[in-house]
Formats: sequence, structure tokens, C-alpha cells
Amino acid sequence: MPYNGGARNKHILWALRSMDEMKKRLQVMKFGGTSVGDASCIARAAKIIVDASKEWRCVAVVSAMSGVTNRLIEAANHARAGNAAGAMGILETLRKQHETALSSLIPQEKEREVIGRKLDDVLAEGRRLCEGTALLRELTPRTLDAVSSLGERLSAPLLAAAVRDAGAAGEAVEATELIVTDAFHGGAEPQMERTRGKAQGRLCPLLEKGIVPLVTGFIGATPEGQLTTLGRGGSDFSATILGAALDAHEVIIWTDVDGVLTADPRLVPEARTIPEISYREAAELAYFGAKVLHPKTLNPVVQAAIPVWIRNSFAPDRPGTKITPQGRSIGGGVKALTAIRDVTLISVGGPGIVGLPDVVGRTFSTTAEVRANVLLISQSSSQNDICFIVASGDAQRTVQALRKEFAHDLAHHNVEHITMDPHIAIVAVVGENMRGIPGIAGKTFSALGRDGVNLIAIAQGSSESNISFVIEEKAVKQALITTHREFGLNAAN
Ligand code: ADP
Ligand code: ASP
Ligand code: MG
Repeated sequence: MPYNGGARNKHILWALRSMDEMKKRLQVMKFGGTSVGDASCIARAAKIIVDASKEWRCVAVVSAMSGVTNRLIEAANHARAGNAAGAMGILETLRKQHETALSSLIPQEKEREVIGRKLDDVLAEGRRLCEGTALLRELTPRTLDAVSSLGERLSAPLLAAAVRDAGAAGEAVEATELIVTDAFHGGAEPQMERTRGKAQGRLCPLLEKGIVPLVTGFIGATPEGQLTTLGRGGSDFSATILGAALDAHEVIIWTDVDGVLTADPRLVPEARTIPEISYREAAELAYFGAKVLHPKTLNPVVQAAIPVWIRNSFAPDRPGTKITPQGRSIGGGVKALTAIRDVTLISVGGPGIVGLPDVVGRTFSTTAEVRANVLLISQSSSQNDICFIVASGDAQRTVQALRKEFAHDLAHHNVEHITMDPHIAIVAVVGENMRGIPGIAGKTFSALGRDGVNLIAIAQGSSESNISFVIEEKAVKQALITTHREFGLNAAN
């Protein structure tokens, strides 16, 4: 009988190791663009991953290096205009940027060559896509997705190499193999059951072997395999989609600030980090423009109550913000403020609409048809005017669709105008414990009045976890500073 004890021992050892690995809890972490902005940031991210992988099974989701997605979209737009040279110039700059990072991160020549070839393949695909676009002078949403996703496809192999260099097993994985979405290019919705099957099938065998998958953020694919993107800033969403699909114990979003702050620190320098916040509060902040979280980030994890942390990759010893089902209550009720600037006010109106019972229904079924995201609605009781706010990117097509829907009424003067005003902003005051505390709206509006901020419209959801108001765009900073002070948010929470 041939002796095969060695092979058997090896097999037993492997099985034991994989049992040990599977006993570890699972963490999905995500690194945003600035957290992988250059070679030293990538090395820092790799160290965070390697340290965590000693205690956890880890899946890392990675964004494009900061600014890269914008540059890619610029390249696609050059190509659409027939300017192939402009597009190639941008791709060449991106090649140099990634090559510089690669050569300072990876000392071994062989590994550098292998990764270099991978990056070249991705960039060659970018050149082909831009050449095709320039030839046809047509940029379809599908091609735009393919071009804008190249940044993540470049950063994931770089981070994987850096993780291996820092001493852990890492493998780059394309999210097209994991996240199944519908075909709405530029803002695709995940199909969670299918994603669960694919993500577990592809990632569990790696995790059993103690390998850290480094997954491209922002990207998914239709059931037919066509690449899609989840919307700008969508890597946060990728992380929670995978967290839910893999039944993770926690998700950590590593970014360039200490957590969720009481306001955007770029506008309110006194803003402070909030130690713990509820899903609902964080979702309200994200929905109303706090860039630190993509608006859909919390959707996938609510049901399984998976905690999400926001932490600073530049200061990993700081605790960050924990987002939990309940949050932690603080006195006063108001937890944070946020503002969205890139929005447009659309109004449908005229005295004639009083007699038209279905104007509201038709208006909002039209916005739904063009998938415009309606952020705030306000209607005065006279019904003379319905006004609502959408992201500026959705405004043009919404107004066009409304003009088509109401063409007959406009011709007969039942509807007198459908207009838009892009020079406005929404500010939201958020806090679950505002519910039942009287006077918050009054306090907000009298402080704003005192500081000369003019209000255009006001809305409060029945959940009372948010009061939002519309102001002129140029008054945003003042409105935030005034409200932040008025509610004592600068003081310790
Ligand atoms: P990443 O590249 O890591 O995804 P983002 O730039 O998308 O990072 O989001 C982080 C930024 O969000 C911060 O640098 C900060 O300027 C901005 N921000 C806006 N509102 C808030 C807030 N309430 N708390 C924290 N950061 C905020
Ligand atoms: N790189 C993508 C963007 O810039 C996704 C992300 O960073 O989350 O929108
Ligand atoms: Mg982001």
C-alpha cells in the first residue's frame, strides 16, 4: 500500500486551519478614495487590513484612488465629444499615477510585473471604450458605467498586492462576480437573494483558506453579466450589500474624518464626532447630503441589525462613530445637521390646478417614471402650487417629462407653469429624540430669522426625526453655523 500519511496530515492540518478561520467573526471593511489616495495611504490601508485579519475573517471593499472616477467620467465626456486625444491623455495620466503607486508599494520585481500587466489590461479596455465612443460620438449609460468603473478595477489589485506585501494572503475580486443588480445603469439596485448566493459561493472558499478578498467597490452586474454601477459614492453601499450577503458581524467604513460629525466639517469647523447614532438618523443625514455615507448605505443592514462603524483611516486608533439600530440618546434631541446643495426646486402651478384633482398623482407618477429622487415636497393649502426638490442631475429630465405629461393642461392654461430653480439648498436638522420635544422648529426658524437667512419652504416628516428647510444656496454656510450654535452642538455630546 503506498504511504500517503504526509498528504493526509497536510489535509488534516488544512481542515483544522480552515475550522479555526471559520470560527473567527466576519468583518467587511471599506476604504474610500482618500484612504487609498496614494502609495502611503494604500500601505496604511493594507496595514489596517492585515492587523484586523489576525482576529477577524475580513472582506475589504475598495474605492478608486481619490479623484480617479471624476477623471474617468471626464475622459468619457471627451470621447463623446469626439475628442479621442483628450480621453487618451487622461488615461495616460491615470496609468502613470497607478504605476507610480505600484512601484513605491511593491519591491519585488516579479510581483510588480504581474500587477503592472493587470493594470495595463484594464487601461487597454478603457482606451478601447473611449475610442469606440469617440468614433460614434455617442456615450450610452452602459459604456459610461464601464468607463467609470475602471478606477476600482485598478485600485483593487494594487491594494491586494500591498496586503500580500504586508504579510497576509490577499486576492483581488471583481464585484461583477458578487453583486447582482437590475440594469439601471448609473444607479443600479442590488438583488439581494441572488447576491447572497453569488457572494457566498465566491468568497467563502477564500475566507476558509484565510485569504482576504479585496473587492472592487461601486460595481455590480446584471444577471446576464453586464457591468453596472451603484451610483456616485456607491462603495459604501457595496460594503453593506456584502455585509448583509455574508452575514457579517460588522461593517467598518474607513474614510478621512473621525466618524459621523454634527455637521460637514468643511462648512462648520466646530463640528464634533458623534460616538453613536441610530440607523434612522444616519440614513436621514446621508439622504440629505452628508457625503460621509452614500444614501442607500444602511438599507441592506437594517434587517439583520449589523452595526456599521465610520472610522478615520488616517487615525485608526480613534474609535469613530458606531451606527446601531437604536443609537444612543443625547439631551436636547438635535443630533446633527446636513445640507444638500446640488438640488433643484421644481414647481408645477397656476390657479387652474385647484380644479384638477389628479395633479399631485400625475406629478409624482411622472417623477417615479423617470426615477427622479424626490427629496422634499411642499404644497400650500390653496393648491396653487406644488413644489418639490430633486437632485440637480435629475431636474432636466423631470421637467421635460412633466411638460409632456401636462402638455394638454398647459395649452388650456389649467397648469400655468412648470419651472425650476437650481439656486437653492436644503438644510436638514436631524435627531430621533426631537420627537415629542416642542419648540425645535420655532427655535431653528427664529435663530435663522435673527441671522438674516430667508426661508423658501419648510417640511417635517411625520417621523419627526428630521426638520428640513429650503433656503437660497448662498446662505447654506450661515444657516448651518447658526443652527449648530443654537442647538449647542459644538459642546460635548
Ligand atoms: P470617502 O472617499 O472615504 O468615501 P467621502 O469624501 O465620500 O469619503 O466622505 C467623507 C467626507 O464627507 C468628509 O471628508 C466630510 O467632508 C464629508 N462630510 C459631510 N458631512 C459630514 C458629516 N456629517 N460627518 C462627517 N463627514 C461629513
Ligand atoms: N469611486 C466611486 C465614486 O467616486 C465610488 C466611491 O468612491 O464610493 O463615486
Ligand atoms: Mg464616499
